[in-house]
Amino acid sequence: MRPEILNPLFRPVTSLAGVGPKLALTLRRLLSGSEAGEPPRVVDLLFHLPAALIDRRNQPGIALSPEGAIVTLRIRVDRHQKPPRGNRRVPYRVYGHDDTGEIALTFFHAHADWVEKSLPVGETRYVSGRVEWFNGRPAMVHPDHIVEEADFASMPLVEPVYPMTAGLARKTLLRIVGEAVESVPTLPECLDPALRKKRAWPDFAAAITQAHHPVKADDLEPTSPHLSRLAYDELLANQLALALLREHHRKSAGTSRRGNGRLTAKILAALPYSLTGSQGQALEEIRADLAKPERMLRLLQGDVGSGKTVVALLSAASVIEAGAQAALMAPTELLIRQHARSIAPAAEAAGIRVAVLTGREKGREREAVLASLADGSTDLLIGTHALFQGNVAFRDLALVIVDEQHRFGVHQRLALTAKGTATDVLVMTATPIPRTLVLTYYGDMDVSKLTEKPAGRRPIETRSVSLDRLDEVVERIRAAVEIGAKAYWVCPLVEESELIDVAAAEERFAALVQVLGPVVGLVHGKMKPEARDRAMQNFLSGATKVLVATTVIEVGVDVPDATIIVIEHAERFGLAQLHQLRGRVGRSDKPSTCLLLFKMPIGDVARDRLSVMRETNDGFRIAEEDLRLRGGGEVLGTRQSGEEGFRVARPEIHADLMEIARDDARLMVATDPHLTGARGDALRILLYLFGRDEAIRLLRAG
Ligand code: ADP
Ligand code: MG
Repeated sequence: MRPEILNPLFRPVTSLAGVGPKLALTLRRLLSGSEAGEPPRVVDLLFHLPAALIDRRNQPGIALSPEGAIVTLRIRVDRHQKPPRGNRRVPYRVYGHDDTGEIALTFFHAHADWVEKSLPVGETRYVSGRVEWFNGRPAMVHPDHIVEEADFASMPLVEPVYPMTAGLARKTLLRIVGEAVESVPTLPECLDPALRKKRAWPDFAAAITQAHHPVKADDLEPTSPHLSRLAYDELLANQLALALLREHHRKSAGTSRRGNGRLTAKILAALPYSLTGSQGQALEEIRADLAKPERMLRLLQGDVGSGKTVVALLSAASVIEAGAQAALMAPTELLIRQHARSIAPAAEAAGIRVAVLTGREKGREREAVLASLADGSTDLLIGTHALFQGNVAFRDLALVIVDEQHRFGVHQRLALTAKGTATDVLVMTATPIPRTLVLTYYGDMDVSKLTEKPAGRRPIETRSVSLDRLDEVVERIRAAVEIGAKAYWVCPLVEESELIDVAAAEERFAALVQVLGPVVGLVHGKMKPEARDRAMQNFLSGATKVLVATTVIEVGVDVPDATIIVIEHAERFGLAQLHQLRGRVGRSDKPSTCLLLFKMPIGDVARDRLSVMRETNDGFRIAEEDLRLRGGGEVLGTRQSGEEGFRVARPEIHADLMEIARDDARLMVATDPHLTGARGDALRILLYLFGRDEAIRLLRAG
């Protein structure tokens, strides 16, 4: 049950004065990007914060008003110049003056009555708006405010500017946000008093009020006391939810699974290489966790190509040695097939029985897989999250490995950890996420890192080339293929529609076939899975030498002898994505090349991205740069899904607060795990306020 004190904030916006169903739709579009669904609530308006402010305090006089500046002028109205009848293109002009000079107030398509009434000849008015100079004469087009002399006080001298949407008047939004702010109750303080004092933070209601009434540019800074306070509240709610989840996960007893090393040894013997130092160490850490009676919750971070898959297999082998089962989940069909393929030889050598389960296995085949999981005749299941739907039952599932490559939402992951009874969880991620982001999106997980690349790898040489030189690039590919090289050709990303991506890829495919002949293959997201598998298989075996692809190959595809990757319209890709794509090459001891084709003109941020790519192969540096260029949610690709978004906090700016919130949350969960004390009550309210109330269910369950 939501605490009663929050009721005024969780009312629908339609309960505010003058907000009907139509306006509610517009507000919904503004606040959530879509008109579908419930009308927004008052609390959603509260977190719609101003992006800028308009300062009308400047009153320089007409002649001294700078070009383009917002000013407020006290003028005497001299004469009206109406547009000629029937000519709507000529504006209605009103001339007025002050001690310094004359100005024209200009109105297009104006109602003459309204202009006459607002600006009677011979009277004094305050007008405020932007001044523009034409041929040495100042004008103000559609003043924002016109008030009578006696009403000067009613003119808002500093106005917040909110992000807007079509069909919403600024004044309307100001009014209803104002009403929303007025309705904020005084909440019990949920912050540690010492922290609040040290930082000189206002209470929640005051912070919200100040956030909506900025009086100077500094007040819009995310590091201002009031915005810091709100950010901290949000980060604390987030960290508390994650800490409660972790506590829940920990408390639900795990089982100790101590492998005897029998299968692991066979796998190691079957591998054509030996493990890197950090693979070995990660494996040690994972095994130690598995052997403990508590449940494991561990993140395995490793740049693309660092060799996470074999660590996953060896971890699975550990629990299989102890007589239990393991599951490896991946986000795409393509990846699952590939995992199955790359794991098969070593698994076979060790006698591990592997099954695959995706949306594709149907009918009998599916039944057979399900039966083998239930009776224990499958040791390791590789599959999509279909794996965790409905009737999939294991005999004894001990370990779930999520190869997420930042495609799974945190919610899915939470659902997953809540599912098994005593299941250990290993999450593998390819983005070398900065510490701050680990905290934000994973909470306080244990972390193992693969810091080394397998031996013998050569760095990838990266160059950017203008699309004008496409012919040269194609020629280069032709020459390279002739001497046995394999190349990926990645086609542009067009955000709006996968169909357009596909069309672009098909077009490129046709063009390359013309030049290169039948050595070109094509793979894209709209292909039937069988056709996609075949295309991948052909490229892997060398039947094709060039693989034209949409971004489906971004996630974890492994064809070790591919040494060239061309990325067309590289300026449209994000940094993390470019790095992921580039990671498809450089997987052998042969030198590799990445060609970033860009189209002029190119924006500053895109230019920065390309130069970062040229300068470094270091995934950590790239992740930091990406964070700097884009902000947290997008680095992990969660912002689009909208589920993990922060409303106020900005992980890239509030990193220090994140650390404090983590410690704060951890201490709270240690000292008052059921949130029953006075601060506990206040924190429950906080969890609801920021939509993290799922965690409260865990409190009840525990
Ligand atoms: P990622 O971490 O991106 O998932 P993979 O697990 O796909 O990386 O491994 C990339 C490639 O490196 C694979 O071809 C794999 O066989 C190979 N590999 C993994 N570990 C080693 C190692 N220690 N020495 C040499 N090659 C390795
Ligand atoms: Mg991988």
